[in-house]
Order: sequence, then structure tokens, then C-alpha cells
Amino acid sequence: MGASTSHERATKGATSSAALEFVKSSPKKLLIGGKWVPSKSGKTFETLNPANEEVLALVAEGDKADVDEAVKHARKAFEEGKWPSLSPHARTRYLLKIADLIEKNADELAELESLDNGKPIFESKNIDIPGAAETFRYYAGFATKIYGDTNPSDPSMFNYTLREAVGVCGQIIPWNFPLLMASWKIAPALACGNVVILKPAEQTPLTAIRLGELILEAGLPESVVQIITGFGPGAGSAIAEHPDIDKVAFTGSGEVGKLILKASTGNLKRVSLELGGKSPNIIFPDADMPSAVFGSMLGIFMNQGQVCCAGSRVFVQQSVYEEFTDSLSTMAKGLTLGNPLDPNTKMGPLVSKEQHDRVIGYLKTGKEEGATAKTGGAAGNQERGYFIQPTVFTNVNNQMKIAREEIFGPVASAIPFKDENDVVLQGNDTTYGLAAAVWTKDINRALGVARKLKAGTVWINTYGMLDPMSPFGGYKQSGFGRELGKYAIDLYTQIKSVYAKIG
Ligand code: ADP
Repeated sequence: MGASTSHERATKGATSSAALEFVKSSPKKLLIGGKWVPSKSGKTFETLNPANEEVLALVAEGDKADVDEAVKHARKAFEEGKWPSLSPHARTRYLLKIADLIEKNADELAELESLDNGKPIFESKNIDIPGAAETFRYYAGFATKIYGDTNPSDPSMFNYTLREAVGVCGQIIPWNFPLLMASWKIAPALACGNVVILKPAEQTPLTAIRLGELILEAGLPESVVQIITGFGPGAGSAIAEHPDIDKVAFTGSGEVGKLILKASTGNLKRVSLELGGKSPNIIFPDADMPSAVFGSMLGIFMNQGQVCCAGSRVFVQQSVYEEFTDSLSTMAKGLTLGNPLDPNTKMGPLVSKEQHDRVIGYLKTGKEEGATAKTGGAAGNQERGYFIQPTVFTNVNNQMKIAREEIFGPVASAIPFKDENDVVLQGNDTTYGLAAAVWTKDINRALGVARKLKAGTVWINTYGMLDPMSPFGGYKQSGFGRELGKYAIDLYTQIKSVYAKIG
């Protein structure tokens, strides 16, 4: 047998010829002014397959000069182009077309996502790609339902409000759900008549680039969506600072969120931030245990735990602590690690070496702090790739670093609690407030605890459910602004009050 090429090694397990072709046609370019162009500097960077550390493709490294160029096109598209003044019905049709194209190319997109991010193909196929199509479809419906008010003003006046597009929107997204995050950002912005400059994460640029192609195929007017791949300092910071960008929407780390907020002060652009979490997942003894164990497993190990709303602090009432953590550990141990493109794989690698090393650091810290790794606690035993074993830490208290800091990996910290009051206090004792869950058959307790938890989303007897119709966002340092649902319309519109004198 001859030696395999690096392309073959990088795409091992991929079966979609479209995905293979897409990866092969490298270097990837920037979508600026309706055309695919190299970066002005001519620089590119590598995007890797985290399962085998091979280079998948080279990608244009956009920076300030490219952002400046894109903003010029975006401004023109917004001020003079037809998108903002298009009939809302036409915007609906464009968004539906994008949704249809995502579905039509779902197998390719799913493979690209798993190759670039490392997530198991069953997740890309069942969550990421259908979720992206559904989000476009949901906001397609919204384009025709963005209402103003008429106000009961003095009879000599007719006063009404208009909800108008904000303008040029910069959108900076992370690597954990690349296409889904792109759709959460782009779809509502377009429904409201904005134009968009999207910067995908440098670890996972491929599906955003492919989405750019599909948006062109859907026939959207030029420069309504532009895609700039590149790094945070560079393309990202240029977007955050740009004096002619009207709004920035960001999903990512708290650290970078703070930088974005600071950078926005130059022109006081609107900012919405969706940041990290350290979400409490609370198990009462009267819960349906098999469901609670399974749900908690999904809550922390789905997408290798690289989920901002992961149930990373598992609070278990003392009387069932041993039993529950035994079951969760057994289930964790049974999760098959391997090539993300294998349909039997339940957990792939983490997205990058950097992320892998960070999580290994937390595993070490946890042990030093006195926690016990009931299962896992180490890197995976694969020869290559950024694998980490699913880990359940017991003997954890809420003051330990592994209970306070966002690990963003497959690491559950199981913390015992005494009673309802105790768990509400401990659950809320965190700087974050993105999500929480409570497992109990007692409806009064469930609803009561849901009220007391300071979190943007609370699940009862389930974990991780998200629907484009329901808002998502954080309390406290998990950010501000709500994406999804009708609330995203607030992020992408501004309100004008019009007074007309009668007579
Ligand atoms: P993570 O730690 O999960 O990688 P980051 O917050 O670093 O999350 O990254 C999320 C997104 O923010 C990525 O697209 C990244 O390139 C971008 N980013 C990173 N640093 C900056 C910055 N200084 N300004 C703007 N965007 C940035």
C-alpha cells in the first residue's frame, strides 16, 4: 500500500464527496463585496482536524485592512442597497432559501463540522446542522412580524413607533457550535434588515465559509453577508473597534467579552454578549434516577463538554450522592471515544491543543485540591488527537477552582448538598448565570427552585434543550442581551418614535 496523502489522513472517515472536495480546494478565501478574495496581506493560517492533528485546509487570515474594506461594502449595502428596504416578504423568502440550502447540503456540512471541530457526527447531523436550518426558518417568519406601536398621545398628535434595522452588524463567534452560532447571529440580523460581517473562530472556519457560499447561491444582494476568517487580535479586534460598525454581537469567553465591551466605547456601538457558565445541575433524591443520570451525562459530556451551558457543577443531595455518582461514572466510562466521523463515536477530541492542555491543567488542579476522579481524569489513550477521558470528580466543594472556573471540557464536578435551601445558595454562589437544571418529581419544588436560581435558562427534568423560539442568554457575568426568540429582534432593531400633528 502506498503512503496516504496528508489530505487523505486529514479527512479520514469522511464519506461525503462534497465535503472532501470542499476541504481540498484550499486556500479558502474571504467573502467581501460579494466575491471570494484572498486577504490583503496574503497571509493564511491552518485549520486542523483535532482528531488526528492533520491540516485540513489553509484559510485566508483577514485583519484590519480586510475588515475596513468589508465595512465600506457593508455601509454601502445598508445605506444604498436594497436589502434594508426590501419587502419583508422577500426577506422571508431569502431566509427560507438559506434554510433549504443548509438542509440540501446537510451531509456535507455535518462532515465538515465534525472534521473541523471534532464533534461526533451524530451530534453534527442531529443537532448542529438541523438547528441551523431551523433557526433560519424561524427568523424567516419574523421578517413579516416586526411591529411598532401606536401610542395614545394627545388627540392633536398621531404618535407611532417604527422598529428599524441597527445597520452594520459585526458578529464574532466561537468554535464550539460553528454553524449553529453563525445562524443564531446571522438569521435574526437579516430578518430585521441589517447587513452582517461575520468572523468565525480561527479553530473552525470551514462551515461558515460554506454557509457564505450557500448565501451567495440563495441570491442575497451583494455585501449583505460578508465573512472574514482570521484571529481574535486582528480581524476580531478590528470589528470590535471599528467606528463604522453599529453593533457587535459576541459569543465566547468572558475575558474577550470584556475586551469587546471596552473596544465598543469608541463609537458606543451596541453590544450583546453571550459568555461562559458554570451551570448547576441539581439532583434531588426523588428524581427519576435513570433519566437524571442520562440527562446529566448529556449535560456535561455532549460536545466534549465544550458547551457554555454545560452542567459542570452536578449538585447531588447527600443521601443519593454515592449511588448517583457511581451511575454517572459508569455511564461516562461507557462513552466511546474515537474518530468523530464514526457513527458509533460518542465523544471526539477537544477542539485544539490549547484547549486540551487547559483541561489537562484543570484535571491536575482538581486532584491537587483534593477531588477524586471517580472515572477519567486523564488524556485519552489515542495515539494522536486532543482526546480527554470523560471525567467525574467527587469530593468536590463549591469553593474549589474546578467548581468555580469554566473548564470547557468533559469534566463534571459532583458536589453534595444538604437540602433545598443549601443547594440554591451554593448553586447561585458563582459569578456566572447562564443555565441551571433541577431534577425532581415534586412539581412545587421544581418550580420553586427554578424561580430562585439566577440563570437565563432553567431546565426541569431535562438538560440542554434549546429552541430558536425561546430566549437564550445570561445573568451576571454570563453576559447580557438575549438571543433567539422574539428577544433577538430587540438586539437587531432600534426604535423610532414619530409624532405627526393632526390638523
Ligand atoms: P475561546 O476561549 O472559547 O476560544 P474566545 O473568547 O477566545 O473563546 O474566542 C471567541 C471568538 O472571539 C473567536 O472568534 C475569537 O477569534 C474571537 N476573539 C478572540 N480575541 C478577540 C479580541 N481581542 N477581539 C475580538 N475578538 C476576539
